Amino acid sequence: MSEKIVITGGAGFIGSNLAECLSRDNDVLVIDDLSTGKMENLAGMDVRFLNGDLADLALLKEAFAGAACVFHQAAIASVKKSVEDPLRTNAVGIDGTLNVLIAARDAGVERVVQASSAAVYGSSPKLPKKEDMLAEPMSPYAVSKLTAEHYARVFLELYGLKTVSLRYFNVFGPKQDPSSEYSGVISRFISALLRDEQPVIYGDGEQTRDFVYVSDVVSANILASNAAPGVYNIASAKSISLNTLIAVISRILRKEVMPRHEPARAGDIKHSLADISRAKCMGYIPKYNLADALLETIEWYKGQ
Ligand code: NAD
Repeated sequence: MSEKIVITGGAGFIGSNLAECLSRDNDVLVIDDLSTGKMENLAGMDVRFLNGDLADLALLKEAFAGAACVFHQAAIASVKKSVEDPLRTNAVGIDGTLNVLIAARDAGVERVVQASSAAVYGSSPKLPKKEDMLAEPMSPYAVSKLTAEHYARVFLELYGLKTVSLRYFNVFGPKQDPSSEYSGVISRFISALLRDEQPVIYGDGEQTRDFVYVSDVVSANILASNAAPGVYNIASAKSISLNTLIAVISRILRKEVMPRHEPARAGDIKHSLADISRAKCMGYIPKYNLADALLETIEWYKGQ
């Protein structure tokens, strides 16, 4: 059955992948201020688009009327940007999220599924990360995500608005913008290699990350629209070092690669790995192995 669905940040990397999937069976309305998102990410999709800012509560209320679910992806999705401009990250990530929750409550929306981040865990070396561990945010971005999670829980308790927060780990895949200095490491590695440039690794490259393919993140969002409210890690539950990652990408591209090492970046964590048992309880199973997902991603970048 076709339902009205709203996606904030739907012209961005993850939001547009979600829009592509949901628009096959639903009436999808995307709200985005195009600050980092692009209209071309929505090309060929049967979606409605509203150029708007999360700061505009009246606009959100009107847009949410009649929606069954709001997928809230909009944010200043960058730790670095949040360090440079904490006020802006606060305005979008905290005030903007509060507007989304208020508008959803007042418009009678049943459920809000929102994007949170593994950044809330901070630098504790304890692995794998579980949702009930102490959150130790180390950047304004992480504070904004943790605060948004608290607001989501409070709106469930006070107003009965069903809310789910998904803590994404390192997401990659088609439509991730490689030209942005804030973009994920996989998109930067692939685009450097396709241009025969040397990829840059900060530090010795032995740091590990839990990379999750965007299609699995899309599936997680759809499952979350029926799952018990709460906080869930969304990841592959596998970790890989950046050195190994470069080796895998260069093997796929059949290119010899000698990455350039630069000093480790302040605040970068050494290792990251998720426990996804809670997400498995809502039926989430990461389906993509890294090599297949990289292949699809590389094919997409080649077509750009
Ligand atoms: P993105 O920058 O591609 O998408 C964010 C979208 O939000 C953009 O289209 C942007 O134009 C829009 N936006 C920003 N401020 C807005 C505002 N005030 N009003 C309306 N729209 C606004 O980033 P992404 O990687 O697709 O991230 C999506 C969500 O997932 C974000 O909440 C991000 O924090 C979270 N997240 C992403 C990752 C990852 O690896 N990409 C990891 C953890 C969490």
